[in-house]
Parts: sequence; structure tokens; C-alpha cells
Amino acid sequence: MTTAAENRLRAGEAASEARGANERFRDRRDAHRDSVFFALCECGRRGCRSGIELTVHEYDAIRRNADWQIVVAGHEYPSHRLVRATERYLLVTVEGAPAVANAVGARSFA
Ligand SMILES: [Zn+2]
Repeated sequence: MTTAAENRLRAGEAASEARGANERFRDRRDAHRDSVFFALCECGRRGCRSGIELTVHEYDAIRRNADWQIVVAGHEYPSHRLVRATERYLLVTVEGAPAVANAVGARSFA
């Protein structure tokens, strides 16, 4: 039997993996702020491979807030708090522990 806390931990780990992949995708688009790439949904569901079309500029703006997670609409959890809804994605934070922020940290801007 799994507890809600264990489920949350696992979701946090999966969200951290998606975050790490998104950082790599984004870094391959370094040259142009308007370059578009597909970021992975950071909902934390096992096996979620939904893509969200973002420009490098949008992605960087989102990543200034380390505890924001980018998720596809409908992939939010009851434990997610909505920060912003757009036509393509939702920005959410996780109530309680900022699991992704702790695992990966904020992007730094020179
Ligand atoms: Zn998802």
C-alpha cells in the first residue's frame, strides 16, 4: 500500500526527470530566443510524454521561478496550485514541498 506522501514523492521525481529533459532540450536551442521546442509536461505522472510547444524566451521566463511546473491542461493534480493558464499549458506549483525546485534548482541567468 502506498501513502499519499509516497505518491507525491514519486510524482516529484518524475516531474524532476521531465524538468531535466526540458533543460537539455532548451539548451540545444540556445542561439535564438524565438526558436520553438517541445517541452515535456512536468505533471509527474509516470509515462507522461505530452509535449508543450514553447519558445526559448517563454521557457526562460517560466524557469525564473524554480517551483513553477509546466503541465498540459488536464494534467494538474489536486495538490497543484494554478499560477497561470494559457492556451497551450498551465503553470502550477505543488502545495507543500517544492520537490522539483529542490532537485534541480532555479536556472541561473548571467
Ligand atoms: Zn502530463
